[in-house]
Amino acid sequence: MVFNNQYSLSINGKMISAGKTFGVVNPATEEVFAEAPDASRTHLDEAVAAAKAAFPAWSGRPIVERKELVAAIGKCLEDNREEFSRLITLEQGKSRAGSDFEIDLSASWCRGVAEYDLPATIIEDSSERTVEVRHTPIGVVGAITPWNVPILIAIWKLAPALLAGNTVVLKPSPFTPLATLKLGELLQDVLPAGVLNVISGGNELGQWMTDHPDIGKVSFTGSTATGKKVMESASKTLKRVTLELGGNDAAIVLPDVDPKAIAPALFWGAFFNSAQVCVAAKRVYIHEDIYDAVAHELVEFAKTVTVGDGAQQGVDLGPVQNRMQFEKVKSLLADSKAQGHRFLMGGEPSGGKGYFIPISIVDNPPENSRVVVEEAFGPVLPLLKFSDIDDVVQRANNTLTGLAGSVWSSDPKKAREIAERLETGTVWINEILFFSPDAPFSGHKQSGLGAEHGMEGLLEFTNTQTITSKKLEAAS
Ligand code: NAD
Repeated sequence: MVFNNQYSLSINGKMISAGKTFGVVNPATEEVFAEAPDASRTHLDEAVAAAKAAFPAWSGRPIVERKELVAAIGKCLEDNREEFSRLITLEQGKSRAGSDFEIDLSASWCRGVAEYDLPATIIEDSSERTVEVRHTPIGVVGAITPWNVPILIAIWKLAPALLAGNTVVLKPSPFTPLATLKLGELLQDVLPAGVLNVISGGNELGQWMTDHPDIGKVSFTGSTATGKKVMESASKTLKRVTLELGGNDAAIVLPDVDPKAIAPALFWGAFFNSAQVCVAAKRVYIHEDIYDAVAHELVEFAKTVTVGDGAQQGVDLGPVQNRMQFEKVKSLLADSKAQGHRFLMGGEPSGGKGYFIPISIVDNPPENSRVVVEEAFGPVLPLLKFSDIDDVVQRANNTLTGLAGSVWSSDPKKAREIAERLETGTVWINEILFFSPDAPFSGHKQSGLGAEHGMEGLLEFTNTQTITSKKLEAAS
């Protein structure tokens, strides 16, 4: 199906025009290319009421049927891969290969989640009593997503929430609402009315969701600053929250690696999606014995990578997604320049239209410089020297966040010892950005609360219910 350029809210199985709209900008051209509906508080109330009304029937359906419908969401993405991919590139900026990857992973994710069951556990079955632990759905889930990977992150919330028997109100970022709105539109033919409602609007719409008395849980992915506001607001009604927030992930490269062999994976681990990835390597610590060789190979590899409009063939990395982020990254570059840091490549924002920043690699800036301490969320990467393992572990952990990290070594035992010392929810050894529907993903410290994926992630969309039953013969 070829998508038209019209976007509506999906509420209770119907496509609704919000009346008001806001413009969506293509970050490669800075031009508004579509209008998205700007939902009011009344639209939110309608969406939540629809989700609440749909909940009894949806949660009462056998899980095997919900599993089939979660798999069908993946099929819908697959059947419309070309159009979703085109639209993600237009609104988000990433290359077509990056958008294809996002849709493919989202589709296979749905199939992976659809494998899960939520069996009750009998923890006692004695002559006295049975004790059974069940996992019941919460009710209406509010899902709030960021602009870097809009469809995949939406699927990370939708698929387990629906499988567990919840109904959903999904709100994409105002910077990238379109693919999510189209997904909502197409899924109205797949799911019963009210089970999935998709609404777009400004940031205040997210805040109204976290305030709403009939939303039982908020699953939020975004910045640490907003995550704190979500938790504060959700506390008023004691909503359950899962928060996946920012990070300043360290990669640690030991002296026993082959620099040329690791350079491509390390490069993509830092720069995939123009480094707008929560778990991108944002600080690369390289042992001093091998620093020059690794830096050289990273730069040589980077020279083979093309930055440009993601819609054009042959482009590997697109622009930064929005002006606010563009200005933030430019300010980090300017600060590095002002501090006299040396750039191994890049360093100057590209002129002309579009939020383009060239691949920028900073040569061993001081540990306390802004480019090291702040989450750039853009293509600026500091390389840092170390000589001592205790020192590098301390430096890697010396941050308020703890999302992920990676260790690179030809000695698995040594790498594993370092991995265990990192205060992060995920540690990759000799790889990076590996995700699976079965592997829990969570942030330590201020990178989040709770987990997504795997059984841990699925259980976050449930309440625990324990039923004890005294045996009649024991009771008499
Ligand atoms: P953001 O926090 O600005 O926005 C995220 C979402 O929250 C958007 O939909 C936004 O409209 C909404 N929102 C804004 N204010 C709100 C409020 N007061 N209450 C409720 N919702 C509100 O984040 P962003 O700029 O879109 O995303 C970038 C950040 O997200 C980075 O810090 C990145 O590291 C992080 N991120 C984390 C993960 C992860 O899984 N841990 C994944 C991707 C991005």
